[in-house]
Amino acid sequence: MGVAELSALIKRYGGNLPRYTSYPTAASFTASVGFSHAQTWLSALPIGSPISLYCHVPFCDELCRFCGCNTSVVRQEAQRRAYAETLKEELHRVARLVGQRRVQHIHFGGGTPTTLPLDALRDIMQTIATLFTLDPNGEIAMELDPRHVPVEYPPVLGALGFNRISLGVQDINPQVQQVCGRLQSFEQTKNAVEQIRAAGIGGVNIDLIYGLPYQTQESVTQTALQIVTLKPERLAVFGYAHVPWKQKRQQLMPEQALPDSAERLAQRACLERVFEDAGYEKIGLDHYALPTDSMACAARAGTLHRNFQGYTVDTCQALIGVGASAVSMLPQGFTQNHVAAAQYSRALAESEHLPTARGVARREEDRLRWAIIERLMCDLCVDLQNPFESCFCAQQDSQQGAKALSSWTPEEGTNGALKWEKERAALEPFIQDELITLCGSTINVTEKGRPFLRHIASVFDTYREELAQQAQKQTKERAKEQAQKEMGKENTLKNTSLKQGAPCFSTSL
Ligand code: SF4
Repeated sequence: MGVAELSALIKRYGGNLPRYTSYPTAASFTASVGFSHAQTWLSALPIGSPISLYCHVPFCDELCRFCGCNTSVVRQEAQRRAYAETLKEELHRVARLVGQRRVQHIHFGGGTPTTLPLDALRDIMQTIATLFTLDPNGEIAMELDPRHVPVEYPPVLGALGFNRISLGVQDINPQVQQVCGRLQSFEQTKNAVEQIRAAGIGGVNIDLIYGLPYQTQESVTQTALQIVTLKPERLAVFGYAHVPWKQKRQQLMPEQALPDSAERLAQRACLERVFEDAGYEKIGLDHYALPTDSMACAARAGTLHRNFQGYTVDTCQALIGVGASAVSMLPQGFTQNHVAAAQYSRALAESEHLPTARGVARREEDRLRWAIIERLMCDLCVDLQNPFESCFCAQQDSQQGAKALSSWTPEEGTNGALKWEKERAALEPFIQDELITLCGSTINVTEKGRPFLRHIASVFDTYREELAQQAQKQTKERAKEQAQKEMGKENTLKNTSLKQGAPCFSTSL
């Protein structure tokens, strides 16, 4: 794709959109859903169905300026231990509601989970093993900061059954690292990978970011070339989302050095080229995996899914989040715990309920729309007549697709009263731009359309108009705030407190 064409597409489709890790998205969560919903929904899980667990640790050893995570630096070990106790308490409350179920996946995320003292982590794992039945073929994963891997940690993770580790790298260029406040040598990353492998942990994921200040196509290519020498099983690349009005620490990022949208897409393409040359398969929007990795296998088989961590091979209907800000994805809806660690702990201490702060119930139509969005995001194709099953319809050229549109008449039935007329009209520009093709009632996203997956999926998002209005209101408020700032009425840079709960990195074009 030439620069002019790329710029035109960005102009047409640019803008921030959800990552579609759920539908409705987190932006629709409200306080009208609370602990009573969470408890009823957990109690009603089908008998015998497995669950997955997500444990959130909101502490880091250092804070990176680009990061949008719910995290803070807590140095006192006592505080970290106290937090581990609250996680155990919440696990007990969950177990009382769901009973002794099989646990398919466990993921420790954050923040930096290794900030938990090792014996506290052992204790949490012991609690899980006592309350539930661990699936011997399940996945147990943890996010690690290569700059802070306590030497005794990896062997214990191996002994506890952890089989996947996710490492944050982002970029190895010194200038980029400097402005991001994250100095991490390639050797530190390499050592971390070696320690993990030596502990017998087979799955290594590495996360990179593009669109950071001072990144260029050349610099991200160099980063990618070095990283693939470590042979991680999976790679994820996220576009940096600069939202300093939401995340105060991003005000320290030099805005004038941020690449524009066309450059960002070009950087993404450079990363992709290196990964493909190194033998990685493309997964959905932003993941890459070696052909033998379970994620690549799931992508080929059409069994890949989305959850709040992004792409997953987990097939569980219930992902239960414990810890501050953790989100639970249940068949009936989504719930989120109190975001601030202190508030979360207080909620547990002051009542016997779950520490739920907000959420959203899923309507029948939401489930149908989520099935469509999820298949698009995972398979790059969906049959609107049967969105609950994956399909890999052969790609059609854009001309055939345009012809198919005129005869495309999804029937009532699986889709209830929905006829997708509005959506059908909204897909027209994507067809004209050769970002999708149509084959009967099946939408196929072309390779050219891959970076625009969220835009294509958003056609099926009925909440986005309302949320866009809210965003517009916020933009006006920000402009007002900015004007006040310029008048010297306030100095927001002094305020480094975090608005928590946002995803670490959201992608935008
Ligand atoms: S990127 Fe990782 S280490 Fe840095 S602040 Fe965010 S969670 Fe902490």
